[in-house]
Amino acid sequence: MSRSFDHLPSLKRLLTELQKIPYLASKNLYRVATHIVTSQPEKIDQLCQALEQAKQYVKNCRECFNWVEGQQVCSICSDDSRETKVICVVEMWQDMFSIERTRQFRGRYHILGGVLCPLEGIGPDQLSINQLIMRCKSGTIQEIIFATNPTPEGEATASFIYSKIQDQDLIVSRLANGLPMGSSLEFMDRVTIHEALVGRRPF
Ligand SMILES: [Zn+2]
Repeated sequence: MSRSFDHLPSLKRLLTELQKIPYLASKNLYRVATHIVTSQPEKIDQLCQALEQAKQYVKNCRECFNWVEGQQVCSICSDDSRETKVICVVEMWQDMFSIERTRQFRGRYHILGGVLCPLEGIGPDQLSINQLIMRCKSGTIQEIIFATNPTPEGEATASFIYSKIQDQDLIVSRLANGLPMGSSLEFMDRVTIHEALVGRRPF
């Protein structure tokens, strides 16, 4: 943080904390800080309470790592009308929402929590990979569909997991070819994801 903020220690601290939030583009830092320091005190109280409440109550589903609140398992894992033997593996929960919007998939999910990235210190233990491998070895799963994003990291993560489960008696597939490389399921339209699911190919 620039030394020009030395006479504004509180603002400097706010900017320093905002800077730690991933995805908050640095060009927006000052706008967000301005919004905060000019907001009504009750708005700031509401924001602080929402942050604390989310941190305290939002947990991971013990099966698939979807978000849950006040439950051990999520609404998808506890939905008896859904297929229990098919698991769709996604990177993040927003990818799961994109697939849910297609209404094409009626199985369960496994949310990895990201992708392998050794340079950033993200290995299998930082994701829910070991839990996925345990699910695959539980004898209750028949099919795994990899729906990681079509990026080098997404492909490498799927390949790593596949290498750990390929000795299991499972049908393993991945989304169809043709998804734009480097894109994200989160931002794909429903029809594209629907077609990628229907056209899935053996791993
Ligand atoms: Zn779940």
